[in-house]
Amino acid sequence: MMIPLSVPCLEGNEWKYVEDCLDTGWISSAGAYVNRFEEMMAGYVGAKYGVACMNGTSGLHIAQVLSGIGQGDHVIAPDLTFVATLNAIKYTGAQPILVDVNENNWQMDLDLLEEYLENNTYPVEAGAAVHYCLQSTHRPVKAIVPVHVLGNVGNMDRLLAIAEKFRLTVIEDSTESLGSFYKRKHTGTFGKAGVFSFNGNKIISTGGGGMIVTDDEELAQKAKHLTTQAKSSAEEYIHDEVGYNYRLVNILAAIGVAQMERFPELLANKLRMNDFYRSELADTGDIVFQEVSEDVDPNYWLFTFKTSRMRELLLFLNSRGVMSRPFWMPMNRLRMFKNDIYVSRRDSAYAIYQSCISIPSSAGITHEQLEEVVGQIKLFFSNTK
Ligand SMILES: *Cc1c(COP(=O)(O)O)cnc(C)c1O
Repeated sequence: MMIPLSVPCLEGNEWKYVEDCLDTGWISSAGAYVNRFEEMMAGYVGAKYGVACMNGTSGLHIAQVLSGIGQGDHVIAPDLTFVATLNAIKYTGAQPILVDVNENNWQMDLDLLEEYLENNTYPVEAGAAVHYCLQSTHRPVKAIVPVHVLGNVGNMDRLLAIAEKFRLTVIEDSTESLGSFYKRKHTGTFGKAGVFSFNGNKIISTGGGGMIVTDDEELAQKAKHLTTQAKSSAEEYIHDEVGYNYRLVNILAAIGVAQMERFPELLANKLRMNDFYRSELADTGDIVFQEVSEDVDPNYWLFTFKTSRMRELLLFLNSRGVMSRPFWMPMNRLRMFKNDIYVSRRDSAYAIYQSCISIPSSAGITHEQLEEVVGQIKLFFSNTK
């Protein structure tokens, strides 16, 4: 039996609530579970509003559309992320600026970012407001999309200061970070909007699902409007703009409500998993962990570490029933984004990609499974040189 990388833990009221949807016929996007899930999520992260979407990618897209990002604008994102971050930027027609990551915490390198903006942009006055344009394209740099990679968080104070200085809208890709806090404030609540994902491998799952969180009432209302085909009349089929069919359906929100009910338990299990892996693997081979700042309480979504023997270890573990995966290929190396701007000194994103491996991290992982994973990793480093 393979120990999976990251699978949902569905041991609460999921079945009961889905059955309720089926019994009552409320399976589609109108239904009480959608609103309840939105309220639970907003309440948990400490935002005023939640808008449920069919996945995290659609949430990221809508958050950017509603931040006025469009054709030719620039949007900053880290080079090391899951492809969805970049896809959502491209849907708007914007041009990404990929920024290399810090080699220790694997989040966007903020020194590099600030230096780049200082040296490559100029201010433009537009009425009372100012925005910054890129010297090479004369197009505005409108937004920054920090990604809380693996549920860890970079220096948000610094990021917000840079964003303020260069008048950037902050839209957090918080898809991996439900349960992660920076200075006791939940991710997704630092900027204009934050987006979560409930994809199959995330810390909680609805099969597929996402959520925009925000304190901005207008943004929340518009997000709900835009994700439901921009219908402007309750009875008639009258629509006032080009909308999207992005709303989460009730049957999936029902699973989300059940997942959120058990979230504290699932999160506690992740923290136990992280403690166990860190203490057991600390002196094993040449393993190096992701650095976590004292300001951060991460959710430890997917346990990932560096080793120079990543490829060998990957083959070894996968052949022995311990499902493991490499990290994401950096965005600047994917063919769709290879002509986009990539700001880097040392290409740390590639070095991290070449040495990182993710190991089983399901919220419901058992102690026996954790011991098996650790045992196999220790065996690898003791047997093979
Ligand atoms: C999972 C994920 C997404 C997208 O979420 P979906 O719900 O799968 O669309 C976006 N960005 C990052 C970094 C992710 O890990």
